[in-house]
Amino acid sequence: MSRVYNFSAGPATLPEPVLQQAAEEMLDWRGTGTSVMEMSHRGKAFVSIAEQAEVDLRELLKVPDNYRVLFLQGGATAQFSAVPLNLLGSAGSADYVNTGSWSKKAIAEARKYASVNVVADGGSGDPMAIPPQSEWQRDPDAAYLHYCANETITGVEFPEIPESGDVPLVSDMSSTFLSRPLDVSRFGVIYAGAQKNFGPAGLTVVIVRDDLLDRASAQVPAIWDYQRQAGADSMLNTPATYSWYIAGLVFQWLKREGGLEAMAERNKRKADKLYAAIDGSSFYRNPVDPLARSWMNVPFVLADDQLDGTFLSEAAEAGLHTLKGHRSVGGMRASIYNAMPESGVDALIDFMADFERRHG
Ligand code: PMP
Repeated sequence: MSRVYNFSAGPATLPEPVLQQAAEEMLDWRGTGTSVMEMSHRGKAFVSIAEQAEVDLRELLKVPDNYRVLFLQGGATAQFSAVPLNLLGSAGSADYVNTGSWSKKAIAEARKYASVNVVADGGSGDPMAIPPQSEWQRDPDAAYLHYCANETITGVEFPEIPESGDVPLVSDMSSTFLSRPLDVSRFGVIYAGAQKNFGPAGLTVVIVRDDLLDRASAQVPAIWDYQRQAGADSMLNTPATYSWYIAGLVFQWLKREGGLEAMAERNKRKADKLYAAIDGSSFYRNPVDPLARSWMNVPFVLADDQLDGTFLSEAAEAGLHTLKGHRSVGGMRASIYNAMPESGVDALIDFMADFERRHG
């Protein structure tokens, strides 16, 4: 077997012990004689898998009791509309921070239902930065304040949770969820697609504060209605059972690895050394303000973009895969989620230095 270092932004690399356990349990899950894929979502076996996943996730994130954890489908993209449909209530308007492509997509979707006030525009310019909160033009009557905690394409990440006062804070955490400890009590709603940091595509975790459950508009489709899904334990219809199971294995792996404090330490070390290698060279460049640099997605450009193709093919030969930057920005991007071992980052840094020696 030869596995490569996979720097894909998502679907992304998963912890090897999780894949091994899934392989061992593939044909016969713990003496049931069936694969998890083949189980009824309402049967005892799957319900125990689903419940354990929630218990473990709550423990990892220290989710307070007044929050519901939902395991839904539709990706973060479905949440771009579910959030306004569930939270607008009678307010009619919502505040959004724009720090890049995913913020813009959330804004465009919310505009179908709400009057959207963009409180600040960031994520452009050179270096790309997050506008300071003191400059945000907030609407005191907004139903909620939405931000994207980590812009996966450009690698712009909020170093801290913004202050929202009494206005419910909502965050798209797709590409940073579980990368470090999080004070869930600061939020109204958190959502994240699984395929970056905690599982296969098809599953989206939504964490909702109880008091926000009764604001849904009459138009909200039942499967996107947080209250109805909470009442049905996320099984209003057939959930993404296999993705839910794998996510549960990832939560157990995270606990064995020392939880989110240990992850934060490891992730910071991995990111710091990669940024140091980029900053220490005149051949590579990362265009993000050091205060807003992502721990998870590290974009970089080469001094000569004519070398991009050679870089990618030589990297692939060296076992370093999927380093091509998003089509909208070009260059390279190394996604270094929890499951990317430090040895993968070290191998990338060594390769980059060697490539620079030969081509710089
Ligand atoms: N938000 C962010 C920050 C993302 O990175 C992505 C996926 N790349 C999305 C939203 C969209 O997620 P999905 O494809 O799961 O709908």
